[in-house]
Amino acid sequence: MDDLQQFIALIPKTEIHLHIEMCVSSASYNALMDKYGIPHDEKTNALTDFSKIVSLQSMIESFFFVQSFFREPEDFLLVVQDVIAYAKRNNIYYIEAFASPSMILNRGVISYDEMFDVLIGGFRDAKKSTGIDVRLIVDVSRTFGPQNAMKNLELTLAFLERTKTDGILGIGLGGQEIDHPCADYEAVFSVAREAGLHVVAHAGEEVGPQSVWEAIDILKAERIGHGISSIQDPKLIERLKKDQTPLEVCPTSNIITKTYVSDLADHPVRALFDSGLNVTVNTDDPILFSIELNKEYENMTTKLGFTREELLVLVKNNLMATFLPKREKDKNWKRVQEVIGTSASRASRK
Ligand SMILES: [Zn+2]
Repeated sequence: MDDLQQFIALIPKTEIHLHIEMCVSSASYNALMDKYGIPHDEKTNALTDFSKIVSLQSMIESFFFVQSFFREPEDFLLVVQDVIAYAKRNNIYYIEAFASPSMILNRGVISYDEMFDVLIGGFRDAKKSTGIDVRLIVDVSRTFGPQNAMKNLELTLAFLERTKTDGILGIGLGGQEIDHPCADYEAVFSVAREAGLHVVAHAGEEVGPQSVWEAIDILKAERIGHGISSIQDPKLIERLKKDQTPLEVCPTSNIITKTYVSDLADHPVRALFDSGLNVTVNTDDPILFSIELNKEYENMTTKLGFTREELLVLVKNNLMATFLPKREKDKNWKRVQEVIGTSASRASRK
């Protein structure tokens, strides 16, 4: 490990844009395929060979395919285990992650409550044994239309009513952005906000600035997933700067899906940051894209020229953009500073 890698590895981190289903290791997929006798044939090989993903569409196909391996509620414990292992590898102590029930429910094998009982219980146990805290945001999904999204919201509200859990923070809008404008989900988001849920939305990932405008003005999203097409619209940049709306930027994900950028060195995250926007760095789909959060931070320096001080700004932005209470955020940031300060004074003594 070189000096930069050591510095990044040492920083206790948070992550706010991560899909838990895309954190599942190939060992877990293989275990599920063996459990259910799913053949390792040409089709499965093609859809589980994530190196073949070249667009958001092919990513979503793989996403749905691997979700079809989950057939009993207990299978979700593998997801919990892999998310925690990922967090440990990257020194992440707190994650706000998306869970997407649509495809699972549409297949009719596992109910919403069965899925989330296992996930919430699994993450609660994991927190006790590891200290790593994973909270969920339900991706109501735009791929299946507003009615399906409203159904997901209703199931979420009923689940929260029954369990009183603090393991679900709110809802998010993921899935195909093209042909599925944020504006179609105005009613869903309005009900969610009135119920006191946090709301976030993917926007500006594969559609232009209009999508981000709709996410902030119509959905009143508290954070924007990706938001990279904002760079095309100076008025939008001004607005995002004024409101300090956090952008959940996932650089490697954008390079793989290639809508707006195909080389990290050209990624607009540098310009967004330099424009004074509230930029955070995340991985989106770590196993699918074969990217670790530590590597994502390293790339920010090696490909985009971020200094160590700037990396710490990104780390702080990420923590402050979480839905943790202010007191918790301040306590965690103090701890980060202590860790960094200790390592800096140790280095200067060498
Ligand atoms: Zn995403």
